[in-house]
Amino acid sequence: MTQSSPPVPSLWAATAAAAPPTTPLDGHITVDVAVIGAGFAGLSAALHVAEAGRSVAVLEAQEVGHGGAGRNNGQVIPSLTRSDPADLRRRFGVDRGNRLARLVAGSAALTFDLIRRHGIDAQARQDGWLQPAHSPGRAALSRRRYEQWKELGSDVALLDGAQVQDLTGATGYSAAWLAHDGGHVNPLGLARGLAGAALTAGAQVYTRSPVLTVTAEGGGWRLSTPRGSVTAGKVLVATDSYADALFPDLRRSMVPVTFYQIATDPLPPDLLAQVLGKGHALSDTHADLYFFRPTVDGRIVSGGALVSQANWQPRLDRRVEQRLREVFPAFAGREIRFSHRWDGTIAFTPDFLPHLHELAPGVVTITGYNGRGVALATACGPVLARAALGHGLEDLDIPLTPVRPVPFQGLIRRFASLELLRYRLRDRREVSL
Ligand SMILES: Cc1cc2nc3c(=O)[nH]c(=O)nc-3n(C[C@H](O)[C@H](O)[C@H](O)COP(=O)(O)OP(=O)(O)OC[C@H]3O[C@@H](n4cnc5c(N)ncnc54)[C@H](O)[C@@H]3O)c2cc1C
Repeated sequence: MTQSSPPVPSLWAATAAAAPPTTPLDGHITVDVAVIGAGFAGLSAALHVAEAGRSVAVLEAQEVGHGGAGRNNGQVIPSLTRSDPADLRRRFGVDRGNRLARLVAGSAALTFDLIRRHGIDAQARQDGWLQPAHSPGRAALSRRRYEQWKELGSDVALLDGAQVQDLTGATGYSAAWLAHDGGHVNPLGLARGLAGAALTAGAQVYTRSPVLTVTAEGGGWRLSTPRGSVTAGKVLVATDSYADALFPDLRRSMVPVTFYQIATDPLPPDLLAQVLGKGHALSDTHADLYFFRPTVDGRIVSGGALVSQANWQPRLDRRVEQRLREVFPAFAGREIRFSHRWDGTIAFTPDFLPHLHELAPGVVTITGYNGRGVALATACGPVLARAALGHGLEDLDIPLTPVRPVPFQGLIRRFASLELLRYRLRDRREVSL
């Protein structure tokens, strides 16, 4: 079953430009390419397929941006969660490793270019993204990441603690690496804008149209929805952590983990000038991640994982208020008020890398953006489009691998929040080193 939480009461839903009008699929259509899921990956893929002159239909179970695309923190990050270019070269060989690294390195620029090219109203700011080191030991990581992404041609800088404070108002960090072409968006605005761009390019987008079955038919595929069906030569599956029972092995190939988001009220201008006042987005090196980003209307959006989901709102408020005060001294003596809280799931793969799979002949997916999907899933749209246009799957920018269900995925999912306790312990130990 597709997860059908109530409409997202998020800041993004309250402030994004309206979605283009869409309807459920009613009746039968035939297209070259069917796309399942209207998040960044599915919509970007549809846009690129349509621009290549092929017919394409997106089928979305709920509304555009219902999944991670409409619920995330909106940080546009041109790097991976854990792996750096050298790790990718070790794992996949020099050529394949570098190709994946370049896809990642170019993902933020590609996203902002799409926003500009299609005039998407995503409240986008390309003011830079940085990853500060929360302990002296992690400063070595900042240097390593800076050197590796620089060697690949990324526009990056290495900062010391004083420079981090000067740039962001954040204290307690010993170093950081900064990606100048990163930034932040209203992610629901981006998803809706991509849907608009895809429609303008000739794609069809159907909402409230969950794909219930995918069956082989006459050398292609037939997809059924509650009120219609699609015949397509190729199928792109872009359901990431919101994958339902349609492809059971795909669903079991990653672990969806719930993360919470929270937005402050707009800050007074004098305070705003001292808290990410130059517009940067920031995610640090804590295993239990600290992350903060400003919005165009002067709020800070943050969040985190919680050990228990029970009564989560007041606990989230306390935790985020504590972190804001810990990181930004400018909040001292000031009241912090929160206006919006929401949640969503992130798909984690065992190697923390996105995976390209052929689920059946002509049925292709990329899944597992591991908290980096704003830029990376958008940048995977053209990769998926190439797959649908007949490009050899062995020769795409993400290495093709078989789907491997995560052993004991159900148990891991249940106890993922306990892992957070171990992370917090590790973070505390590192700081006190
Ligand atoms: C709380 C949170 C914070 C995050 N913060 C960041 C961040 O700051 N930066 C970053 O880069 N990434 C972040 N992420 C991750 C990012 O949101 C995801 O990686 C990204 O949304 C993945 O995009 P997608 O298009 O692959 O999938 P999604 O956006 O999840 O879209 C999948 C869609 O598939 C649909 N679907 C599922 N099954 C079916 C079916 N049978 N038929 C039809 N439709 C179906 C779903 O309804 C859904 O709309 C965050 C995620 C969360 C949850």
